[in-house]
Amino acid sequence: MTEANPRKRRPPTFELIGGNVCLDFINTLDDRPSDQPKELLTNYYELARFGEDSGILTPEELDFFYKRVQLAPDEAEEALRRARNLREALHDIFFAVMNKQKAPQLAMDQLNANLHEAALHSRLVQRGDGLEWRFDELTSSFNAMLWPIARAAADLLASPDLAQVRACSSPTCQWLFLDTSKNHHRRWCSMKQCGNRAKVRRFYARRKTAG
Ligand SMILES: [Zn+2]
Repeated sequence: MTEANPRKRRPPTFELIGGNVCLDFINTLDDRPSDQPKELLTNYYELARFGEDSGILTPEELDFFYKRVQLAPDEAEEALRRARNLREALHDIFFAVMNKQKAPQLAMDQLNANLHEAALHSRLVQRGDGLEWRFDELTSSFNAMLWPIARAAADLLASPDLAQVRACSSPTCQWLFLDTSKNHHRRWCSMKQCGNRAKVRRFYARRKTAG
């Protein structure tokens, strides 16, 4: 697996609160329940930035892709389209499972296609006393960033941790996160964003009824 990258050069642009890269990836369509969802991946540069922020890509790999995009813009555009398709498939699957519904077949097919490709580009290698999964060079394809994301999603979907996946309680947010809190009562994507906003609303509502 790709390790978290401690050598980031740039300040992060994405708010990574999901606790799992596949959930953070789903959250890159912001304000999802509103009439006007906000696309945070409007071009391949942003997808690559997500890759660096989330530790999938090293700064050197990010630089590589920044240059490659200029040389092969159509290929990058196609990879971006594919990334968004995978993201929406993951969203549909996680929401279906969280609501105890059957995951849509089309979404499952899309995830499985990505998993298949990830499998073609990964192998078991020895590391220390144990073995680990390792992906081929991520610079070998514009799609390479999706391999660890698809794998992380599959691992989470097939693990008991799936029961800890929650959507933020704010009706306009619904960002997904893994609730690793002690009592499993976490309600908000982040207190700073949604939690405080809800608190302020409750405060004013109380003042209104009191006044
Ligand atoms: Zn939220």
